[in-house]
Amino acid sequence: MDAAVALQKEAAPNPAAGPNLKQIFQNAQRAFDLIKKHRTPPDPKTYAVWYAYVEAADPRVIERVDSAVAENGTLTPFDINSIFRELLTEESSAVSARHSIGMAIEKEIDEVMKIIRQGVQNSDEFGASLDKANSALPGTASAEHLASLVSTLMEDNERMARTARELNQGLTDSQNQIAKLNQELEEVQTQCRRDPLTSVANRRAFDERLERELRAAVETGENLCLAMADIDHFKSVNDTYGHQVGDAVLQQFASVVTQNIKGQDMVARYGGEEFAIILPETDLFSAYNLLVKIKYTFKNTETPVEGTLKSIKDVTASFGLVRFEPGMTPRDMIEQADHYLYEAKNSGRDRVKAKGF
Ligand code: GH3
Ligand code: MG
Ligand code: MG
Repeated sequence: MDAAVALQKEAAPNPAAGPNLKQIFQNAQRAFDLIKKHRTPPDPKTYAVWYAYVEAADPRVIERVDSAVAENGTLTPFDINSIFRELLTEESSAVSARHSIGMAIEKEIDEVMKIIRQGVQNSDEFGASLDKANSALPGTASAEHLASLVSTLMEDNERMARTARELNQGLTDSQNQIAKLNQELEEVQTQCRRDPLTSVANRRAFDERLERELRAAVETGENLCLAMADIDHFKSVNDTYGHQVGDAVLQQFASVVTQNIKGQDMVARYGGEEFAIILPETDLFSAYNLLVKIKYTFKNTETPVEGTLKSIKDVTASFGLVRFEPGMTPRDMIEQADHYLYEAKNSGRDRVKAKGF
């Protein structure tokens, strides 16, 4: 059996099953064993490579590790660096909001590495104590001497077992912590792109998306429309019914838009009571009709007034709509949509305005 096949058998048996803590812990141990077996340095990068290997989630990692081991009998620092850089660092090109959690994970990995180093050192110490006993044996004559050697070894053995238990517990704790941090990281990633009040995309997600859609429109020559929407006389909704009802109206608006758009369309809270709607692959006429429908539906949607049996309706919104034309930047599109929104407000509100409409 060649090295690649032999080594591959050490990978996790069922990569399709979602990781659970037991699996994570087992993977950590396998990675630790491979570090020792292949005499690779016990540092976080090496650990990450072996961990990814036994986790077996990415077949490219398995392929690279197997072929490196088949060639050199181990992973060289060069292999470790290149596998890490090419296959394991997508996650580390983190946006700033993820940074702090990323750091916490790194700290946990450092903890794991400390435990691993401790483990290596302990087994070295035990090995040394065995060696000492071994070399003492030939010259040993008395039964007392033998008994004392055996008892030293037994003590060492007990100490090793105790340390191993402690190290295992430490590893489990660290792995639990890493799993929890990873989950938090995912939550933060989602949260930092959503508006907490309405749950639609926030300004940041909108800016990124508009830029992407603009590039796509340039490349494909497809239509792209953008609308800016603003709730009419919203200040008086707040003044008459209170801020909480105002909030409910914002949620209602976001919900009406969400229910009427589809596919790759996106609604985002642009700020205050202003929303932006991106409509890729949509011509101006279709976009106009969609916005009229949204405008109409919103106007006829009732928002309950909290603490009373009443509800308010007839709150309206105005819309400015623009279609992408070659040479336009995202800023140009927003400014033009804003321009038509301003026209809609000035010509009486509760309407959709666009070039030619
Ligand atoms: P117009 O028809 O010209 O758009 O008038 P308007 O009253 O809607 O516009 P104005 O800019 O005068 O007022 C907007 C108000 O929106 C003022 C601000 O207090 C309120 N607002 C902004 N964000 C929120 C929010 O998150 N919740 C609530 N309840 N009100 C908000
Ligand atoms: Mg307004
Ligand atoms: Mg406004």
